Amino acid sequence: MKHVIIIGAGAAGIMAALAAAGQGASVTLLEKNNIVGKKMGITGKGRCNLTNACAMDEFVAHTPGNGKFLYSAYGQFSNENLLDLLHQWGLETKVERGGRVFPQSDSAIEVRKLLYDRLCRVGVHIRLNEAATAVQRWGDTFAVRTQAGQYEGDACIITTGGMSYPVTGSSGDGYGFAKSLGHAVTELKPSLIPFTTKETWPHALSGLSLRNVEASLWKRGKMLASQFGEMLFTHFGVSGPIILMLSAAAAHKKQCQYPMQLRINLKPALSKETLDQRVQRDFQKYIRKEAENAMKDLLPQRLIPIVLEQAGIDGRCQVNQISREQRQDLVDSLQALTLTITGTRPIEEAIVTAGGVSVREINPKTMESKLTPRLYFAGEVMDIDAYTGGYNLQAAFSTGYVAGMAAAKEE
Ligand SMILES: Cc1cc2nc3c(=O)[nH]c(=O)nc-3n(C[C@H](O)[C@H](O)[C@H](O)COP(=O)(O)OP(=O)(O)OC[C@H]3O[C@@H](n4cnc5c(N)ncnc54)[C@H](O)[C@@H]3O)c2cc1C
Repeated sequence: MKHVIIIGAGAAGIMAALAAAGQGASVTLLEKNNIVGKKMGITGKGRCNLTNACAMDEFVAHTPGNGKFLYSAYGQFSNENLLDLLHQWGLETKVERGGRVFPQSDSAIEVRKLLYDRLCRVGVHIRLNEAATAVQRWGDTFAVRTQAGQYEGDACIITTGGMSYPVTGSSGDGYGFAKSLGHAVTELKPSLIPFTTKETWPHALSGLSLRNVEASLWKRGKMLASQFGEMLFTHFGVSGPIILMLSAAAAHKKQCQYPMQLRINLKPALSKETLDQRVQRDFQKYIRKEAENAMKDLLPQRLIPIVLEQAGIDGRCQVNQISREQRQDLVDSLQALTLTITGTRPIEEAIVTAGGVSVREINPKTMESKLTPRLYFAGEVMDIDAYTGGYNLQAAFSTGYVAGMAAAKEE
């Protein structure tokens, strides 16, 4: 019987352990926390966006970090395979906006408990509070050292996650293990992370969220990425769904060196002409008011002074004194409210880590190292990362499954 050692009990490690044990291997799962799947328990704001209901090609398209590397893993263990398993084990799920799949109970903890229960049922040896400190290969045997002792096995799967949210256990240990076994680790960057801004006015607007706006990132007059949807001002800059998506695009573009410019189109559905007519109508309606009191139908009150300032208009100026040119500047400011992005929040606060163990040195069909036979990697420790929408967990589940199956196979 093959003995497989798995380091890290997140989504990838748990699925690897279940797959390997299902093939009859003896599996030891080492986890530094006192529970398995700690990060899973906080995913999807505690609701766990398990996967997405879209086609597999869409998964690849939503994975800016080496999506194509995942084709084979998705072919072997798709979103449907994952949901079939979870349903078989008693978890009910539902599909929400954008194809996002959640447990019916809206409880990430239920998913974590269910998976823990499955691990116990198939006889995986779960070693909690055991952080691996080194991985070595002696002939045909892998030796994994922990604070408490040493484990030996025929195969080893590294599923230690990335660098973000280290409180959940993912503090980057796997990169050190990979390097010690000769693997290259690509540059680690935060992805799906809020931006910090040079301007301090967003701090004053902290908590204000904008819906149906378009935000775009610019560098030297060239647009690098743009997103439509919801964003939020915070005490350090900007956040919210479309900002997180822009940060993922930024993590994968070479030209994306900070500082960059963020332009917010507050009225993306309107052409310049239509917006100008709309402003004129409002100015007519509030003809005796000052500019800062004449735009409340158009914008949230707190944003009005900022837009006026960027347009170079004094907020106390009466609207009937605003010239046509000034109104054009106002329309420009409404469609390109500008901020200087100085960087991102620290990687510890990122939803995912971009970069990791180079996928060039990993066989995409098995997740086996091309350098060290019977060493495998799965999940976020590899140089893969996706957008929000359930794509990151599916990548971890799929690669974990493939690694577990391959590691358990008898020669
Ligand atoms: C706040 C938040 C919300 C998220 N929401 C979603 C979502 O809804 N949907 C989605 O698809 N993705 C989401 N993600 C991303 C997703 O959670 C991760 O991409 C995914 O968990 C990666 O799985 P993993 O198994 O590779 O790593 P992890 O889940 O990070 O698991 C790694 C495990 O390895 C253990 N470990 C590390 N080092 C050692 C060591 N030396 N010895 C022993 N154990 C070790 C860690 O303790 C940890 O348990 C979210 C991420 C965050 C931070």
